[in-house]
Amino acid sequence: MFAFLKKVVSRLSLPSLKCNTTPVLGYHSVHPDHPLAVRPDDLREQIRFLKENFEVVPLAEYVRRKLAGELTEGTAAVTFDDGYEDNYLYAYPVLKEFSCPATLFLVTRFIENRKGLQFAKRVGLFGGLKPLSWEQLAVMSDLVDVGAHTHSHVQASRVPFSALVRELKVNVEMVKSNLGVTPTLFSYPWGQPRDILPVGNKLIRRLFKGAVTTVFSADNRSRAVNPFQLRRVIIGPGDDLDIFVGKVCGAFEFLRPAAAVRGFFGSNKMRNDSVYLRPRVQG
Ligand SMILES: [Zn+2]
Repeated sequence: MFAFLKKVVSRLSLPSLKCNTTPVLGYHSVHPDHPLAVRPDDLREQIRFLKENFEVVPLAEYVRRKLAGELTEGTAAVTFDDGYEDNYLYAYPVLKEFSCPATLFLVTRFIENRKGLQFAKRVGLFGGLKPLSWEQLAVMSDLVDVGAHTHSHVQASRVPFSALVRELKVNVEMVKSNLGVTPTLFSYPWGQPRDILPVGNKLIRRLFKGAVTTVFSADNRSRAVNPFQLRRVIIGPGDDLDIFVGKVCGAFEFLRPAAAVRGFFGSNKMRNDSVYLRPRVQG
């Protein structure tokens, strides 16, 4: 019913849409069969639409513009969270075809653990999917920057502070030692209001230049939106092109208050905060 309503709203508002937004797209798995994944053919249509209607820039450039007060309508960025192997198999060829830059936020414990399907399930990643390899990430580096997403996919607002420090440092260090680049951007696992830290958090500000959430909006230009809590448009398997266009062009911004309430009061059931890097015992 909700999906149908969205579709109707999307169709109704399409003729008058001007796409005067600044969306940051958020993808996870891109796979032909997985129930939670965006289909490769859908991704292709979506990236084509983006490239035809927006200036798609790397997220680092998007953040630079945001900080400089130069983020203008028609700017977009593409992101992928977690690090599923299908991002290399199915998404990278699409990015290549359209010369579309993207940022991929990696859970390094997932990458390191090739048989980590059990781990994936425990920490709320999509089940039954293999992780990317460092070699695949190296191949993708012409278009895909790597960002941080914690080592073990932890809920930043809930783990002990010393564990969060290690989760972020190990995450950043492993990307650096395997790919030779230091991540400058961070994506909050889960990314809803109850999962993220206040914008003034010194640790996040010291380690990164900006951070993304999963709080919904297609526009980050307002001064009220902090570069350490950028909003995204999360794309799922049910989003056909009409819905996609509606989402990225701002037709669903009226749903934001309802989404925010849900995001704030939602259940923590999926968040497993017992799987994290314990601080080293001193002395
Ligand atoms: Zn994630």
